[in-house]
Amino acid sequence: MSTEQRIIFCILVFILVAVWLKKSFTKCAFFGAVVLLFGIFSWHERALLVMIFAFALTAVVEKICRKKLRYADENLTQKAGARDIIQLFVNGFCAFLSVFLYTTYQKEVFLWVYVVAVSESLQDSVSSTTGIAFQGKTIDICTFRPITKGLSGGVSLYGTLSGVVSSVLLSAVAVALRIAEGKAIPFIVLSSTVGCLADSFFGSAWQVKYTCPICGTVTEKKTHCFHATVYRSGWKRMNNDVVNFLSNLVACAVCVGLYYWFQAVSVTS
Ligand SMILES: [Zn+2]
Repeated sequence: MSTEQRIIFCILVFILVAVWLKKSFTKCAFFGAVVLLFGIFSWHERALLVMIFAFALTAVVEKICRKKLRYADENLTQKAGARDIIQLFVNGFCAFLSVFLYTTYQKEVFLWVYVVAVSESLQDSVSSTTGIAFQGKTIDICTFRPITKGLSGGVSLYGTLSGVVSSVLLSAVAVALRIAEGKAIPFIVLSSTVGCLADSFFGSAWQVKYTCPICGTVTEKKTHCFHATVYRSGWKRMNNDVVNFLSNLVACAVCVGLYYWFQAVSVTS
């Protein structure tokens, strides 16, 4: 192992110990995370740093917004509590696969896709965290009507902007780590932002939502006020995890399209 690899390995072990002690993942998800992170480390150790940066930034943003988040988390979404294996799969699969494909085929496009996959998950969580925590209107992406903060399908100015900023920061880190060239930044940020907007669109149009029979709140949870909620709209199988997975795929697909378009344009000019 080179010195660089040893340092990254130590950071990885440190993070896994911290995650284990904080119990922020279920046991199953924790072992999934070990496979995911060591897999990426063994294929491309600098790429792992991009993911670690995303973890760190998410944690910092959540810490800053914690107090205001608690209400929304408990009342509206299923996101509260330790992350489970499905959430890990949903957010990590495309990233894991793209690093594997890069190692196998040595094509630059897979590294772009990797950064986009990580960036979309980061942007999604930063947008929803800051969107809930800060003042300002949240509107439904499909109907443009105001909706409750934190509910899937909503977009807000602060949430969207802070998400874009997080994606710019992540791309800059990827460039600094020589995973992508500087010219990739706008493409990464654009693909990741399209993915996030797709997330809101799927969340608004298709995601299953329920109404609480006691207080009337529209929620993504199956229970509210200690009572079972009543089906309101959306596809029953389309929960937050499916929506997140699809939007991550959209971001990656947009990135592949933009990459080859850019190659074609660069050749002809
Ligand atoms: Zn209720």
